[in-house]
Amino acid sequence: MNNSFYDILTKKVTNNEALSQEDAVRVLDLGQLETLELLQVAYQFRRQYFGKMVTVHILNNVQNGMCPEDCRYCAQSASSSAPIEPYGMKSDEEILAEAAEAHDSGAMRYCMVFSGTGPSYERVDHLVRLIKQIKQRHKIEVCVSAGAVDRNQARQLKEAGLDRLNHNLNTSEKYYHHICTSHTYADRLQTLQAAHAEGLAVCSGVIIGMGENAQDLYEMTYNLRELGAESIPVNFLIPIPGIALKEARGLSPEYCLRVLCLFRLMNPKAEIRMAAGREIHLGSLEPLGLFAANSLFLQGYLNTRGAADVRTLTMIKDAGFTISSEIPMDKLLSRSSGPMLPEGLKSLDELRPFKVRE
Ligand code: SF4
Repeated sequence: MNNSFYDILTKKVTNNEALSQEDAVRVLDLGQLETLELLQVAYQFRRQYFGKMVTVHILNNVQNGMCPEDCRYCAQSASSSAPIEPYGMKSDEEILAEAAEAHDSGAMRYCMVFSGTGPSYERVDHLVRLIKQIKQRHKIEVCVSAGAVDRNQARQLKEAGLDRLNHNLNTSEKYYHHICTSHTYADRLQTLQAAHAEGLAVCSGVIIGMGENAQDLYEMTYNLRELGAESIPVNFLIPIPGIALKEARGLSPEYCLRVLCLFRLMNPKAEIRMAAGREIHLGSLEPLGLFAANSLFLQGYLNTRGAADVRTLTMIKDAGFTISSEIPMDKLLSRSSGPMLPEGLKSLDELRPFKVRE
């Protein structure tokens, strides 16, 4: 019976049909299906659309902390007492140096992330100037995550050469009030619709482990499918001490793998990213995640460190994958160094490596 269910999944995805909620519940249920067989189904589509390529992204926390919103998963929110180092927008000099560094580290995409509700019109003008300079200097795609934007702002960013706009949906509509009360799911959706309407590719992710159930998860995959999100970062909650959500709920390495499989099956052509928390929650199954996901972050996340570059690149190579970069993998590996598993919050020097010290 189970064998035929794998065939049904394959047939539905091949026919561009969404899985049903019942299918999704089975995919996520550890007692019902074999994880490796499920992964094989997901891998067929990962291979069909992305071959053995892994896209590497590097995040730059352009502005840190001081956010008035109350997102319960976020160390930068008004409700957090996490000991992060807040700072206003970095200088252009720092941002451009970090873009160069991202390019030289093999990243295909450089993401500038701002804390806060959304950018002012002055901030958008500033971003326009920065995007143009980065695109002139490097063959790298640029993504911005700056909170809520309207259509005019999205148009300006698109005209400057922005490739993608990130704004995460995070969870399902009906679960949203459990993770944030200062804005709504509809607010978030509006920004994504504005970005798409202006021709920007949309990156919109989720955070797993905040107490959502299988139906919520299905709804997230379905809504991102309907939205046509080109990129979906799948984050697994990192319960940083001081944030309102004290623990990640219901995550095991096998479950996290199935979540990645479900996102691949529901969004077969999307760039599915193993994002924050991959090291902690996938554990020793992390390399298997590459058979469903085709993308990851290098150099950690917004406020927390990730595995050292050398470990991540070695994992990609050992699993038989390679990265989309102008710089050959072996050259990157020979340059990479650092401890294999650095942990904890990033220091100010890590967040601002190119800050000009007085
Ligand atoms: S997720 Fe964004 S909007 Fe929410 S608190 Fe963090 S920085 Fe602010």
